[in-house]
Amino acid sequence: MTGSLAVVGLGPGDPELLTPEAATALAASDALYGYGPYLDRVPARAGQTRYASDNREEGARAAAALTHAGQGARVAVVSGGDPGVFAMAAAVCEQIERGDAAWRQLDLSVVPGVTAMLAVAAKVGAPLGHDFCAISLSDNLKPWDLVERRLSAAAGAGFVIALYNPISRARPWQLGKAFERLRGILPATTPVVFGRAVSRTDESVAVSTLDSADPSRADMATLIIVGSAATRVIERPGLLPLVYTPRSADGPGA
Ligand code: SAH
Repeated sequence: MTGSLAVVGLGPGDPELLTPEAATALAASDALYGYGPYLDRVPARAGQTRYASDNREEGARAAAALTHAGQGARVAVVSGGDPGVFAMAAAVCEQIERGDAAWRQLDLSVVPGVTAMLAVAAKVGAPLGHDFCAISLSDNLKPWDLVERRLSAAAGAGFVIALYNPISRARPWQLGKAFERLRGILPATTPVVFGRAVSRTDESVAVSTLDSADPSRADMATLIIVGSAATRVIERPGLLPLVYTPRSADGPGA
C-alpha cells in the first residue's frame, strides 16, 4: 500500500461548512492527527486511529504524520478553518523541506477549508469587499515589534485587517496594544467586528468602532476585523448592522 498525507481544513465549526472534499479525505484515512478539540469535530469511524496532540506541538505532529504516511498508511492531519492559514499545512511543508528526502515523494494533498475571517465577514455583510490582509497577533513565532510594524503598514496602506489569535492566557495585552496603535492611524469611527466561535453553538458577533473597541470582548476563539477608512456601517434596527467595504476605493457606487 502506498501511503498518503492529506492536510485537511475542517472549516470554522459547523459541519455544513466542511467541504465535501474534506469529508471524503477524512473518511478515506486510516489515521487522524490533530489538536484534540479539532479531532473531536470529526465523526468517529471504525478502524481509524486518532493521535491528539497539544496545540503548540505542530512541528512534532507534522513529523509524526509524515513518518506514519511514509510507512504506507493513509494519514490525515486536521486544522480548524483552512489548513494553510496560520495552521498545519505550513508546518507539514516545513518538515518536508528539512526532513527525510523520501517525504518529498509522498502523495500529499492540502484540502482547503473556510477560514475564520471569511466566516466572520459573512456574518456582517462584506467587510473584506476590497483589499485586505490577515495578521496573527501571536508573538510566539515572531517578535511583537514586527507585528506592530505590520499593523501600521497595513492600516497606513488602507487594507482592512483580519486579526487572528488576538489574545490568550499567555498573551493578554497584545490586542489592546494593537488597537492603540491602529487608533493612531485610522479614524475613531472605523468599524471593528468581533466574531467569536462563529458557526458554532456558542457563536457571538458584535460590531463596534475603533475608539470604543474593548479588547476584553475577545478570547482565543475570536477573530477581529478592523475596517479601513472606506469601510461603512448600515444600521438595521433590531438586527446586527451590515458592515461592508465598497468594491471601489472611491466609495460606494463609484
Ligand atoms: N486555520 C484557522 C486559523 C488558526 S489560528 C482558520 O483558517 O480559521 C486560530 C484563530 O483563528 C483563533 O484565535 C481565532 O482568531 C480564529 N478562529 C478560528 N475559528 C474561529 C471561529 N469559529 N470563529 C472566530 N474565530 C475563529
